[in-house]
Amino acid sequence: MMILALAAPAQDIAATRDMSTTGDNADRIRRRKLSRPCGDRLRLPIQFVYPLIEAMKKFFQIFVSSVVVFACCGVSLASDDSSISVLLIDGQNNHNWKETTPLIQQTLEGCGRFQVDVVTSPPAGEEMGTFDPTFSDYDVVVSNYNGQPWSEKTQKAFEAYVAGGGGFVCVHAADNAFPDWNAYNRMIGVGGWGGRSEKSGPYVRWKEDLKRFTRDASPGRGGAHGKRVPFIVVVRDRDHPVTRGLPGSFMQTNDELYAQLRGPAENMHVLATGFSAPESGGSGEHEPLLMTVQFGEGRVFHTTLGHDAHAISGVAFQATLQRGTEWAATGEVTLPPVDSNVLTSGEAALRDPSSIMPDEFTAIPNLQADGWVTIFNGKDLSGWKQKNGTATYRVADGVVVGKTAEGSPNSFLCTEKEYTNFELTFEVMVDAGLNSGVQIRSLSRSDYKNGRVHGPQIEIETAPGESGYVYSEGTGRGWITTEQPIKDAYLNDQWNRFIVRAAGDRIQTWVNVEAIADIRDPESSQQGFIGLQVHSIQKDTGPFEVRWRDVRIRPLD
Ligand code: ZN
Repeated sequence: MMILALAAPAQDIAATRDMSTTGDNADRIRRRKLSRPCGDRLRLPIQFVYPLIEAMKKFFQIFVSSVVVFACCGVSLASDDSSISVLLIDGQNNHNWKETTPLIQQTLEGCGRFQVDVVTSPPAGEEMGTFDPTFSDYDVVVSNYNGQPWSEKTQKAFEAYVAGGGGFVCVHAADNAFPDWNAYNRMIGVGGWGGRSEKSGPYVRWKEDLKRFTRDASPGRGGAHGKRVPFIVVVRDRDHPVTRGLPGSFMQTNDELYAQLRGPAENMHVLATGFSAPESGGSGEHEPLLMTVQFGEGRVFHTTLGHDAHAISGVAFQATLQRGTEWAATGEVTLPPVDSNVLTSGEAALRDPSSIMPDEFTAIPNLQADGWVTIFNGKDLSGWKQKNGTATYRVADGVVVGKTAEGSPNSFLCTEKEYTNFELTFEVMVDAGLNSGVQIRSLSRSDYKNGRVHGPQIEIETAPGESGYVYSEGTGRGWITTEQPIKDAYLNDQWNRFIVRAAGDRIQTWVNVEAIADIRDPESSQQGFIGLQVHSIQKDTGPFEVRWRDVRIRPLD
């Protein structure tokens, strides 16, 4: 709302404000606050079952000063003013909008970031002239509408709203709507059905052999889909706020995979595609699933997912809708990425939208917060001490470079100081073939294996691999994380940002903002040094190097 008030021409705001006073309009906007009694918590799926109240207590004790946490816990902590206001439009659709609208509303409101009003159009066949929502009262408009054309006045108001900086989210069959409304088609980029054809614009598809998107202007209908099957959402841009930190690919539950969409595709950026498999009646193409479009000053997020209640129960739909809606409204995403142990490319994760709770949106540590302390000065290794092996550590250009030594056991460059509860971050780049890691809360004592460094280690290795999982170094215990599905969060031959939070017995890790581990480890020491590992190597291999920079810690005690 603020964005529009600043950016839209004054006469448009005045005009839409006037309309908001009509009784018709007020009646049609239903402000429904969902009540979520405590009993709902019993319905959480297994991956979310942990002592929520304990977790909440700890969470607030430790992180109450974090800006990120405030943003993600709008319901509990922030005033309504900080919520993103959403206008969700329904009333006509060839899909069951009466069932799906409340689920979309729950998906948005459940995460604590949004407050949703629903506006319902007159039914099909009735006079549409009375349908005139005050778009400018909202940060973002979400459409679950696929029906008769709106009045020219409403269309113009909507165009001015988005062009003036308003957010717009197009969900599934909303991209079937308005085939003849030029500006709407420019907002959604591509659409389907309603007589769409080559006259509407090109098909836009990812070509795996070319590794890029192509535009195909050849004649043909716009809009198709095969049978409803589960499919993998493949992220094509992992550095957009909507997708940053999500896994590179993840499964959506049975849904319609829209294919052969076509349209102007101006200022359109495809974030993710899905393969429309011929064996289930699909096009055989990698079709756009998630898109952004710039329309004037406005941001549009377009998801083709979400055909029905079952599709909306997919965490893949929910997470991308929440993130896309926040981005359309603000240009940023503060919602933490969904735990990659939940959003996998194996079985599709399902979630009853009414059970989504704000406190599950565990915030990634805020690297801009107060209290971060550099523990490597960029010039020399003062404050650090080498233990165990004979690998070499040197400082070059502000970087700690560890180099393997044949015949050496694992080596560790350890802080002289010990730390208890903290957030830790560093950037790292490791040669392929070298295993590395960073010890946290680790110990070296003469009465334990002759000073063998031992304790939790955050794994570092090239992708695909196990970077970010937690290993119990030097204890014989093996992995502390219970499963280590192979991931590609680590980016080979680049600097990689690792973030660790250790608080009480909980250890969380992120690699390039993808959440990797979130474990309870009551067995390990909760105090000790930080240690940079250079692993031993096999005979006649190496030498290998591993580099760290920007090593910082933020004590939480
Ligand atoms: Zn559908």
